[in-house]
Amino acid sequence: MKKLFDGILSAFLILGVSSLFAAGNLSQNVRPKYVFLFVGDGMGLAQIELADEYARLSGMERIFINDIDYCAVTRTSSASSFITDSAASATAFACGAKTKNGRLGVDSDGGRLESCAVAALESGRKVGIVTTVTMNHATPAGFYAHNKKRSNYYEIALDMLESNVNYFAGEGIASADDKKSPAYRGDIYSLLEKSGYKVCQDEDSFNGLKAGTDKAVVSYKSGLSIDRCGKGGGISLADVTRKAIELLDSDKGFFLMVEGGKIDSMCHVNDAASALWETFDFDKAIKVAFDFMKEHGDETLIVITADHETGGLVLGSGSGFSPLAKSGSDKSDYSAQILNLGNQKCSQSEFAKRLAKIKKDKGPDFSFGDAKVLIEECFGMKFSSGEKPGPMSISAADEKLLKDCFDKYFKPQDENSNRFQIYVSRMMAHKAGLSFSTTGHSALPSITWAKGVGADNFRGRIENTDISKILKNLLR
Ligand SMILES: [Zn+2]
Repeated sequence: MKKLFDGILSAFLILGVSSLFAAGNLSQNVRPKYVFLFVGDGMGLAQIELADEYARLSGMERIFINDIDYCAVTRTSSASSFITDSAASATAFACGAKTKNGRLGVDSDGGRLESCAVAALESGRKVGIVTTVTMNHATPAGFYAHNKKRSNYYEIALDMLESNVNYFAGEGIASADDKKSPAYRGDIYSLLEKSGYKVCQDEDSFNGLKAGTDKAVVSYKSGLSIDRCGKGGGISLADVTRKAIELLDSDKGFFLMVEGGKIDSMCHVNDAASALWETFDFDKAIKVAFDFMKEHGDETLIVITADHETGGLVLGSGSGFSPLAKSGSDKSDYSAQILNLGNQKCSQSEFAKRLAKIKKDKGPDFSFGDAKVLIEECFGMKFSSGEKPGPMSISAADEKLLKDCFDKYFKPQDENSNRFQIYVSRMMAHKAGLSFSTTGHSALPSITWAKGVGADNFRGRIENTDISKILKNLLR
């Protein structure tokens, strides 16, 4: 009897101790069946905080990223620079090795690297790679391509064929029929079709994609969220994410990478309002994963990260907006008026398109006056006409700076008007109490957020390469 009791006691102790052990080492003993990796390209902490504060002030639902359990400060530097580009960073968090800027899936010596997507495929999981930019852009390509040059778009797209990735979605494939490429073998879409992919290039065929389709490529026009606002229709990042879950769900689970690729490009041109709406768009795709997690909480991991910060976005405008001359206040200024971003009705690129059209229509009669009318229409800023200045007013002194910039950079014979547009956007950001310090990337560490099975691996200060290492470990 005592023997039996001892046996039960020791079994109980062993069970008790081992379950304690398991709880304490959750990250090593429990593996997620479903893994989501969200990458906000250029989405630094300032971009996230701007979106959350805008949501809070305007009475919208707060951003879903808030609903996360763990986070890690993540160094983004590449092998060649403190400031990474998107190719080196994608290689780092996809493959787990630092490389030189511009390289994809190869190390600094050109050696081939394998990504966590490969680990996922080897484990029997299905794999999806979706983005708002082209499918062979740096971030998505980091998971399947191997090239010394991120701009070798055609060759990178050829790597899609060998990838065994089950589902690709993005805003087309860059240089898909580049006959000048030395590696040219035909149009990429036809090659994908020949190798067994169902290729969808319109909304109907996208909607028609059903579970059971083993390999699919979706080319969709994601456009810009700010320009889609109120128009409805079209396919969004949330839609392609939802479709991914439908197509990839299987006995062994899946790995899905989702990129919000245009937060970066909007911050490159210092267009704060457009970057804000891209962040909301990305956040909506994250919500799709959170909803999935409600049903599969004990077998799902959601990781959200950024490859780097873009624009050197500052949530404060004390030093003014002007790249040419000091303007605004040099005093310590603690006021923020970020809801003023809501006055912007379209993206900077839409503004530029419309301005170029007016210029074309008017020919030699085109003048700064035309730009002024369009600035008021697109950005909601008001040029002073003697009345009391409001929060969106452009003072006479600032109008002069703007006109100087127009005269210098928007000459009728010169199509390249980029700097004028950026200048208008910087002025707009200033109206919201924000400022940009660069049109490039910054070396600010990213935040990697995690929730679910294995999320506790993401804490403290990590390297971007650790994201891949942790994911590979959990996926194998
Ligand atoms: Zn960038």
